[in-house]
Amino acid sequence: MDRRTWIRAAGAAAIGGLATGCSSAAVTGNGTQAPPTPDPGAGTDRPSGGPFPVDADPSLLIRTVVGHRPYRPSGFVVKADRVGSKLLVHNYGHGGAGITLSWGTADMAVALAQGSESRTAAVLGCGAVGLATARLLQRRGWAVTVYARDLPPATTSNVAGGLWSPTSVSDGPPSGAFATTFREASALSYRYFQDLPADRFGIHWRVNYLFGDEPPEQPQWMAPVSELFPGLQTVGPGEHPFPIPYALRYRAMVIEPPVYLREMMDDVRIAGGRIEVRDFGSPDQVASLPEPVVFNCTGLGAKALFGDDELTPIKGQLHVLLPQRRIDYVTLSGGLYMIPRADGILLGGTFQRGDGSWEPDPAAQTRILDGHARFFAGMRTG
Ligand SMILES: Cc1cc2nc3c(=O)[nH]c(=O)nc-3n(C[C@H](O)[C@H](O)[C@H](O)COP(=O)(O)OP(=O)(O)OC[C@H]3O[C@@H](n4cnc5c(N)ncnc54)[C@H](O)[C@@H]3O)c2cc1C
Repeated sequence: MDRRTWIRAAGAAAIGGLATGCSSAAVTGNGTQAPPTPDPGAGTDRPSGGPFPVDADPSLLIRTVVGHRPYRPSGFVVKADRVGSKLLVHNYGHGGAGITLSWGTADMAVALAQGSESRTAAVLGCGAVGLATARLLQRRGWAVTVYARDLPPATTSNVAGGLWSPTSVSDGPPSGAFATTFREASALSYRYFQDLPADRFGIHWRVNYLFGDEPPEQPQWMAPVSELFPGLQTVGPGEHPFPIPYALRYRAMVIEPPVYLREMMDDVRIAGGRIEVRDFGSPDQVASLPEPVVFNCTGLGAKALFGDDELTPIKGQLHVLLPQRRIDYVTLSGGLYMIPRADGILLGGTFQRGDGSWEPDPAAQTRILDGHARFFAGMRTG
């Protein structure tokens, strides 16, 4: 399998294998919803029953969002450099996992500046990566100013689904030295997220189902870090209510970006940091900053700002249905995925490499909405 094929396969695996048609309806003839078929193995933290089917009626659509994953085929960059007289630490290019990996690569980036005499830093970028970097610097005694062209809610990090899942990070499985870096960044980040007060930061553990017509193998992105997915097991027919015979079932965090990014910005300010809106057009402008140490967390912006031609956008669009409080699980199936959040039910499943356009693709919208409607209508109930 070549590298391009691999990432398609890995993406498909990461977002499931919905291939079968769906049959029975979850809604009874009189319009009331039948009780769901329980999934006892996933029920220890589900006192109120379930899993319940998502109501995927298109009339419940409340918004569509488009974003661009900052993707590098060889993986993210964490390295020390110079700009003018300053130490410049790069921390960008996290592809489809910038929220997931943010604390891990921030830890690595901050470590690269530990030998610096100064404890005053500029952080370029106010997405998940810049904010985690800023907070770790502050925790270690640095004075920090965050400079960014766009602030939440106008960042790519706000568009993310927020599933903790180190997927779509490189072409092919992480290999060589990058494999070690990838594992370390994943493990560190997994741990840092657990140290945050979950309610305040919008973090929830959710049961995830990754479906297959056959017992699914662990996707290649998961295998090196499978210990970070508690409860991981294969379930088969009769063990769950979904219309696909098999699934990998595991727990993973969902981090709600609107809540999380707002709280992170608050913490930066509470710890004495400044956040300043500023658009950098060249490395010379970065070199003229007053801070002697600079962290580059500009995501896709690093392509133009620092000339990284390997960076490429991977366009994704999400269709968001009205919030449904009873939905407490994630599904990954047939190139489609569903993530429940307080601000809505996110339906996704697009991965358009090299596409920097902002218009939602109507054909993709139909595939995503119809596919989910069929899938959830096929859930066994009662
Ligand atoms: C549809 C979709 C779904 C996704 N789902 C998930 C998911 O479930 N889980 C997950 O972990 N990840 C997910 N991602 C990926 C995630 O969104 C990105 O990896 C992440 O947002 C990258 O964070 P960042 O901080 O590097 O970049 P950004 O959030 O883009 O932030 C970059 C910051 O740099 C600033 N900047 C850029 N250029 C300049 C400049 N020249 N001058 C000044 N400031 C500049 C920007 O204004 C911004 O403040 C998804 C992405 C998409 C599109």
